[in-house]
Amino acid sequence: MCGLSVIPRPGTPVRFNHLPLGFLSLVILLDSKAQQTELEWISYPPNGWEEISGLDENYTPIRTYQVCQVMEPNQNNWLRTNWIEKGDAQRIFVELKFTLRDCNSLPGVVGTCKETFNLYYQETDSEVGRSLRENQYVKIDTIAADESFTQGDLGERKMKLNTEVRIIGPLSRRGFYLAFQDVGACIALVSVKVYYKKCWSIIENLATFPDTVTGSEFSSLVEVEGTCVSDAEEEADNSPKMHCSAEGEWLVPIGKCICKAGFHQKGDACEPCGRGFYKSSSQDLQCSRCPAHSFNDREGSWRCDCEDGYYRALSDPASVACTRPPSAPQNLVYNINQTTVSLEWSPPADTGGRNDVTYRVICRRCSWEPEECVPCGPNVGYSPAQSGLVDTYVTIMDLLAHANYTFEVEAVNGVSDLSRTQRLFAAVSIATGQAAPSQVSEVIKEKVQQRSIQLSWQEPQQPNGVITEYEIKYYEKVSLWYMSKSTSATVNNLKPNTAYIFQIRAFTEAGYGTYGPRLEITTKEEATGSIYCCQNPVIIIAVVAVAGTIILVFMVFGFIIGRRYALAVKFPGTKTYIDPETYEDPNRAVHQFAKELDASCIKIERVIGAGEFGEVCSGRLKLPGKRDVSVAIKTLKVGYTEKQRRDFLCEASIMGQFDHPNVVHLEGVVTRGKPVMIVIEYMENGSLDGFLRKHDGQFTVIQLVGMLRGIAAGMRYLSDMGYVHRDLAARNILVNSNLVCKVSDFGLSRVIDDDPEAVYTTTGGKIPVRWTAPEAIQYRKFTSASDVWSYGIVMWEVMSYGERPYWDMSNQDVIKAIEEGYRLPAPMDCPPGLHQLMLDCWQKDRAERPKFDQIVGILDKMIRNPNTLKTPVGTCTRPISPLLDQSTPDFTAFRSVGEWLEAIKMERYRDNFTAAGYSSLESVARMSIELGIDFFAPFLISCFCKQHFLHIYLLP
Ligand code: AMP
Repeated sequence: MCGLSVIPRPGTPVRFNHLPLGFLSLVILLDSKAQQTELEWISYPPNGWEEISGLDENYTPIRTYQVCQVMEPNQNNWLRTNWIEKGDAQRIFVELKFTLRDCNSLPGVVGTCKETFNLYYQETDSEVGRSLRENQYVKIDTIAADESFTQGDLGERKMKLNTEVRIIGPLSRRGFYLAFQDVGACIALVSVKVYYKKCWSIIENLATFPDTVTGSEFSSLVEVEGTCVSDAEEEADNSPKMHCSAEGEWLVPIGKCICKAGFHQKGDACEPCGRGFYKSSSQDLQCSRCPAHSFNDREGSWRCDCEDGYYRALSDPASVACTRPPSAPQNLVYNINQTTVSLEWSPPADTGGRNDVTYRVICRRCSWEPEECVPCGPNVGYSPAQSGLVDTYVTIMDLLAHANYTFEVEAVNGVSDLSRTQRLFAAVSIATGQAAPSQVSEVIKEKVQQRSIQLSWQEPQQPNGVITEYEIKYYEKVSLWYMSKSTSATVNNLKPNTAYIFQIRAFTEAGYGTYGPRLEITTKEEATGSIYCCQNPVIIIAVVAVAGTIILVFMVFGFIIGRRYALAVKFPGTKTYIDPETYEDPNRAVHQFAKELDASCIKIERVIGAGEFGEVCSGRLKLPGKRDVSVAIKTLKVGYTEKQRRDFLCEASIMGQFDHPNVVHLEGVVTRGKPVMIVIEYMENGSLDGFLRKHDGQFTVIQLVGMLRGIAAGMRYLSDMGYVHRDLAARNILVNSNLVCKVSDFGLSRVIDDDPEAVYTTTGGKIPVRWTAPEAIQYRKFTSASDVWSYGIVMWEVMSYGERPYWDMSNQDVIKAIEEGYRLPAPMDCPPGLHQLMLDCWQKDRAERPKFDQIVGILDKMIRNPNTLKTPVGTCTRPISPLLDQSTPDFTAFRSVGEWLEAIKMERYRDNFTAAGYSSLESVARMSIELGIDFFAPFLISCFCKQHFLHIYLLP
């Protein structure tokens, strides 16, 4: 990767005793030419080498040594330099310049004249005096001339100069001597230069590399570590290094130094950043100007300080502007649903210059008097979370019922926690409503007998009111219920050796809580010998057979002996409704009660309505071997959740259990394909309310009663099965092409959610107030008797051709009016007998209401005897049904309007009557007859006043 490169030699820095000459990488240890005075080397014998002054080619005076004993044999002339201190050197270069006379050009020297000389050295740690011992010298080489000269004197200037360089080393002592041995040549030693090579100190990549002597070998590179210049630091894992070559050149730079934070590079040095500038990291090349809302007034800063009121989050890089906490969220609104509060808000006007704004909610529960608030604690749930909210909404759950809460919503960003300024938040104070109790937990089986199981349990953690009773649901195959006032109960009349599942839920004024966990308990085995024949089907058959035989014997016998005895034997035959919720696997319930249809048998034709879970279509169903029939197809919209699918199919699990001409018939379901479908018989005329409105006044009373009879029969069937509808209303009755009415819209209580009439009440849960019995509104007591109340409303809807019950009164006013005893008046042209039946259905005491069975009987009677229906409105002021127990005082029994109004608790309207000119009972009676209004139901006064005294409202 790194190619060899030669570092330019520095021109100046020389911190060595010996000045480098020529090549700047050289350190000269000896240069005979440079010396002007006598060299005073040692020459031995004295007539050998001789020091002679001369001029070089540039006429510069030089000192030379010469010898020329060519005529004498056996010459051995030594010349030794002064001691040369080697310094750091390892490899020493010896450069010799000399001239040498060609022996051939000298007459008479054959045999004695030589053309070479020998070069020696001796290492010592110090000077060793002026004696010269040959054997202490090490020979370096025999030096021969490349060129010898033939003409002229030895001192002649135009001699042919030879240059020879020899290298010695590695040397181990502090210094050395050089010696020249002449063995009979004619030589002039013009210059002797001794040097070594060195890489000179250099700054490269902001690192200083010191003077470095080259290695001892010709090929070696010396690795040198650099030192960062001041205010610079080594780059991580990349420390600076260079290599000093044998030639004294820097090669192969590796790594580097970089200027520290707060400093930037200028040439070979690091300089501090100026004021108002910063450099946060050594990695940055340049100093940068301080970002917005920050400053510094020092040189060499690695960061800038934030202005007052502005901050930098720990994770913020130094390069971003200083920011501040956001302002408070805006437009905080809330929505309470019992003990759940939803908050929504808009983002703050000022995000503080950041885009990491989130929200947090602080919940405090406050006492009323004196107002003191404490944190809500860990029992409160937040969805999606309490803090770190990215979206502008949150739902807070599991609050206490009837409690006062304050919620603060704060917008926070990355610098909120650094700010010491006051928190900015939006706040609301909210009072929660009533809520059902939380789950009953820890059900313990106290005692298990053959026919009874004794249980005890813990009160729910959040009763949310006074628990008035507990409901214990237990079932073998079908659900059974048991009510308990305390937290223990013994459930009797069970079957021996049978597994029962128990679930308990608490009840308060606010209604039922959810069921606790299932507990399975098996009753004890039957004691041997005792027979509980009615539990065993084989025994039942045997007993029935025996009983039947006896009855038959009795009947035949009685018939024979003169019909003296009449016997009536009733066997229970009605199926019982099974709550699909009791199935652990809801899919099993669907497939137990509903037929799985092949989607290819269904042809969807058009969309006819919108259900809660998806479109309702009409189409045709053609099952193999059967003729095709019109069907309504309820579809489950795509993208449903598992819960939605369960709830959707729940209706089929319920409907599939019913088989009655006045209950909408389920053909089957498609669960193994998409879309998931519920296929129902097609009801050509759609919902009853719309149908009646469309045909206002077009039917005879008998036709209307016929419809009502059908609905009552369907409801009788359902109540006999133990099914409570909870949402009986004309909109949930379907009408086919033969005007047959069928009850529809099944589902568990929550399916009421899909009823647009259903509204939240203070007792929790959504309730279609106008159709619902007071006890169901008040404490969610839904029974067949509350269905009867709803049936009365349906009667009123039918007889008024789809008029809205209680017209435009508010739900609150309706609840109040019913509580005060008011009831809907007879619709126009409604036979009083029918209105009376309605009033019966609206008895406050649910035990007083007729049963569906009785209602079917009364309607049948009316149909059989239409005269009862013909009685005109207003003439029949007294009840005709034995069921009616009207407690309203008789209008004729009073002496004055005041007394009458007082008796019916309407005295506050006395002035209205007087102002309108009705001051005597006679005038009221006259008006009553003229207007065809029957005053026996106090509620009529409200209607009357609404219509006739427009300026007053009897209902506050
Ligand atoms: P639902 O989801 O049951 O409230 O149905 C929505 C609408 O679809 C109803 O209001 C009816 O108009 C229509 N619908 C439901 N079932 C049938 C059916 N069996 N025959 C005809 N129309 C139906």
